[in-house]
Formats: sequence, C-alpha cells, structure tokens
Amino acid sequence: MNVSELSRLESELRVLAQASDILSPTGEVRLNIETQIQSYAHKFLDQLQYLKAYEEDLYPANDLINDHITDKEVPLDEILTLLKKSVDTPGLNPASGGHMGYIPGGGIYTAAWGDYLAAVFNRYAGIYYASPGAVNMEHKMTRWMCALFDMPETAGGTLCSGGSIASLAAVVAARDHKKINSTNIPFTTVYMTQQTHHCIHKALRVAGLGEIIIRYVSVTENDCMDTYILEKMILEDKLKGYLPWLLIGSAGTTDTGIIDPIDSMAQIAQKYNLWFHVDAAYGGFFVLVDELKDRFKGMNQADSIVIDPHKGLFLPYGSGAVLVKDIKHLLQSHYYLANYMQDAYNENQPVNPADLSPELTRHFRGLRMWLPLKLHGLKPFRSALKEKFLLAKYAAYRLNELSVFQLRQFPVLSVVCFRFSYGSIESDNAATKALLQYIVSRGKVFMSSTVLDNKYYIRMAIVCFRTHQDTIDQAIEEIKSFLALTHTSQQT
Ligand SMILES: *Cc1c(COP(=O)(O)O)cnc(C)c1O
Repeated sequence: MNVSELSRLESELRVLAQASDILSPTGEVRLNIETQIQSYAHKFLDQLQYLKAYEEDLYPANDLINDHITDKEVPLDEILTLLKKSVDTPGLNPASGGHMGYIPGGGIYTAAWGDYLAAVFNRYAGIYYASPGAVNMEHKMTRWMCALFDMPETAGGTLCSGGSIASLAAVVAARDHKKINSTNIPFTTVYMTQQTHHCIHKALRVAGLGEIIIRYVSVTENDCMDTYILEKMILEDKLKGYLPWLLIGSAGTTDTGIIDPIDSMAQIAQKYNLWFHVDAAYGGFFVLVDELKDRFKGMNQADSIVIDPHKGLFLPYGSGAVLVKDIKHLLQSHYYLANYMQDAYNENQPVNPADLSPELTRHFRGLRMWLPLKLHGLKPFRSALKEKFLLAKYAAYRLNELSVFQLRQFPVLSVVCFRFSYGSIESDNAATKALLQYIVSRGKVFMSSTVLDNKYYIRMAIVCFRTHQDTIDQAIEEIKSFLALTHTSQQT
C-alpha cells in the first residue's frame, strides 16, 4: 500500500465511522430516546386497567408486513405509532390483569430495568471467565430455586428461555444419564398422564426419542396420577422386557392446576430406577406460599425440575429454568470443548452456563430476576401468589353461586375449570363454548378452554400479578351478562 492509498483508506474509515456514529448516540440523544420510549410505556401502564385483555381485530398487525426496512431513517414517534397500532393493540394483552387464559405471563416493571441494564452493559453470561459476576448471579438464582425445593448440595441448573427449552435440557440429561440410545429406544418406556404438558412430547421428539413408548397412566378422580396403576404398569413392562426409563410428574398441570402425588411417585421412581422429572413450570413458585408448601413434598427427590419464572415469579417472557439433582447430569449432555474456547475453561471455577444448555452466547437472564427479588424482597411475591391461590377459591365460590356450572375440581392452585351442566355432554359443550366466545369477543377479560373426558371446559387461570378481586368480579359480570342474554333469547 503506497502513501496515497493509505490516506484514501484513512479518509474512508473516517467517513464510515461518522456514518455509523448514530449507533452510539450522545447523552442528549439518548435522553431524548429514553423520554419518548418511557412516555410511551408509562401511557400504556397508566391506562392498562382500562385496556382490553383481548382485542379481536387482528387486522392492524398487517401494517408490519407492508412496512419495510430500508436505508432510510424513520423518526421514533412514527415507529412508536406503528408499534402501538400493529403490535401493542391486536390480540392478547398479557400485561392485563384480565388475562386469565392459558397460563398468564408476568412482566413486572422492575424486571424490565434488569433487562435494560443487561442489554446496555451486554455482559457475557455464558462463560465464567468472561463475566464471573453475571455467571455467579445466574448460579445464585438457580441455587435459590433448588433451595426452595430442598434439593441436595449437588443440585444446580440453568436459566433458559422458557419451560419448553428447560424440559428439553432435562429430557436430554435423563436420556444420556440412563444411556438411552439406538440400541434400546424401541423398548424404552416413559410414564405420564394425559394432562402432561405437550412440551414433554416435543422434547422427546427433538431429543431423538420420537420412537420411545409413552405409557399414559390413568388419573384418579382428582385428576392426579394414579400411583397404584403406575406401579402396576412399570412391573408389567419390566416383565415383558421393556426398559422403564422416565417418569413425569406435574406440580401444577396446565389444564386444571392439580399437583400429582409427587412424594409417592418419587419413591416409585427410586424403587424401579427411573429418572423422575417434575414439570413445575406453572405451579413451582406456589411453594413460596406457606399454606401450600406441603403440597410440594417429594420434590427434593426429583432428578430434574422445570420451573418458569416468567409465570409464577411474574417476570417478562423469556425466563424458564431447569434444575437437576446433580449438576453433572446437565453438564454431561451439554458441555463442549473447542480449540477456540480453550481460554475459557477451568475446572476450578464455577461451571459455565454455556456447558449446561445448548446455548453458547445468551441473554443475561439472571439480572431481570435478581434485580426485582433484591429490590422488593420476597414478601410481595409471596403475597401475590397467595392472593392468586385465594382468588381461585373466590372465583370457584362465585361460579358455584350462579348454580349453572359444574367445576372440574375445587382449585388446588390457581386454575378454575368450569362448564355448564344442564343437559347432554354435547349441548353443554356447545353452551360452554358459546360462553367462552362471548367473553373473548368482548375482550374485557380473557380465558381459554380445554377438553377433559370429552367435556369442554373454560379455564380461568389466575396467575397475573395484576389480577385482583375486582378482575374476578368483572369476569363474573361478563358471565352473568351472557346468562341474561341467552335467558332472554330463550324466552322470546
Ligand atoms: C407453560 C408450561 C410449560 C411450557 O413452558 P413455556 O415457558 O411456555 O415454554 C410446560 N409445562 C407447564 C405445566 C406449563 O404450564
């Protein structure tokens, strides 16, 4: 390179640096952006109680499809207008206390600031050597959750994007620990109930175990796994030469929120040398409620547990966790050594989160969890969870008062499943479905449905930290207005 070429290169570098300077804005510009974005967020939060839980008109979302990324700058206020119309209005509003469908998520305000700081500092949370603090914080969070279930000293885990990925990590750990591979897959068995969450089926398939044999254990009248039948099935399978491998328990099913008999399942798993996995994605954090702690007895014997801080700890979406009785079991399936990683591995340091899940570079998830827990302490979380538990009882009482519904169960945690029961299964199914459609189309509150024993049920899942007694009252008013409407139409 001669002198004039070098000088041309330098001048081009200057131009490019200037042209991309906007990516690290000055203090004044930053403040401007912050003010606009915060004012947008505050307006939303201040109006939230008047906003719909569900907006049926999905059409405005299409504006995003017709909008394009180009070389042109777009002013922030224009962007926020598009965001409001196309993203923050149509469909489900999970921030609303009126969201009582599926399993509601959270979104506590201070967690958002944890994410903000995580993104600004962008600490590398995958490897101890890169950010010992971020890694220690994540281990602190997983160890804290292990302690909630009195898991042993060897226990540990990792923060993942959600319960589904956490379940995959658990299934893979169970597969490798019990040496399930091409030699034995076709005669290996797994035990669960029909109410086990579908993420387990998905995890099995993704883990290359789609050909495994699933045994559905029948449930008792409380919708819990019948452990007498379970033991019988395992014994029969052993006699026939099958390899019983994995037992799945649920601590809070999605359908009805029940808890399987964890303690006796743990004993059976131990007796027959099965891996015992407990899906506590929804229900796990109810262990923080003193009155409910006993229900989780036996969790300390689980080989793996999945729990979702983005449900029971009210964090924003993207926070699940897998906990294992022995951290080595996660490690054995997920560690990796590459030449370009040789500086990052040291046996005497805390284990790298990158060696505990399929992810290498990852979001620093610990901060959005740690910050609110430190800032608020545990007490408001305990109170909110106990409130949800009591609200479910209250909702069950108010529904019973109407004398037209049958509850699937009296709520164990915070899900209430109900349906009309006047006539044939078919006509009650149709009436219940019509009620749900009415509720959802009005959008004041949102619920979802399920089918159990061919019966259609509406599910009121009370998990959002913004759901309070007046929300349940509003739901009951919606139901009453449907009853008044159908009653009048029957008379005319
Ligand atoms: C929500 C849920 C899952 C799946 O978790 P995601 O975080 O949605 O991936 C698994 N099991 C149960 C019981 C759940 O409620």
